[in-house]
Amino acid sequence: MRCEVLTLFPDLIAGLVSQSILKRAQDKGLVEIRIHNIRDFIEDRHRVADDVPYGGGCGMVMKAEPIFRALDALKTEGHDLRLILPSPQGIRFSQKLAQDFSRESRRLVWLCGHYEGVDERVHTLLQPEEISIGDYVLTGGELPALVMIDAAARLVPGVLGDPTSANEDSFSGSLLDFPHYTRPVGVRGLQVPDILLSGHHEAIRVWRRKEALRNTYLKRPDLLQFETLTEEDKQLLADITQENRAEISVNRGEEE
Ligand code: SAM
Repeated sequence: MRCEVLTLFPDLIAGLVSQSILKRAQDKGLVEIRIHNIRDFIEDRHRVADDVPYGGGCGMVMKAEPIFRALDALKTEGHDLRLILPSPQGIRFSQKLAQDFSRESRRLVWLCGHYEGVDERVHTLLQPEEISIGDYVLTGGELPALVMIDAAARLVPGVLGDPTSANEDSFSGSLLDFPHYTRPVGVRGLQVPDILLSGHHEAIRVWRRKEALRNTYLKRPDLLQFETLTEEDKQLLADITQENRAEISVNRGEEE
């Protein structure tokens, strides 16, 4: 996966991508992340990247020309580009899009807006994919770009130590993830479920499946696709509805 980030604040991106799993992914050559300072593409000597909006009003608008120049420079390298503009007005980012990015053969270019956003002519001429990370407004596109890069990079084969772990994550299938425990066995009077210490692989598989079903049923029932559930799932779900009867009736009461 090859990523280019166009930003006025390169340090915001550099700090996060130079740590932990994203750093290792780059060291292994599985993910490439290049950061470009839009200011380097400004011709006037004051290096002004933004200006006041026509028509008046508050806030500043990012100028179009430095953005066009930055993209022209990338295009002269001869790569096919897929341009993404993080925007609260865009389609909602999802695990499915992360999967799509992780398999993208073109270079993914994130253009990070700031202030009131970018001059409308950037939209008109470049027609970027506008993608939102949620219905709230942030100060800039750097965090959304990082969210998308991080979510996609961990799906690139070889980035996570265990290739199956991403498959079990929430949103990979129709279920949320099951609960995880690590050493020690006892923490403040709470014990790890015996089954996880049993070494019995089949029993552990069933326990995990049941707890993933329970998490989904209790926290995000909208995700459950009943038509895809196996007979075993249906039986586990029947047990769960018995075991969590009190909680379920309280939730239903709140909804009514
Ligand atoms: N005036 C814009 C509007 O209301 O649609 C908001 C501009 S916002 C303050 C500045 C930049 O942050 C945007 O250009 C975008 O790149 C980024 N941004 C803010 N919230 C976002 C979100 N929820 N998802 C993706 N990008 C976001």
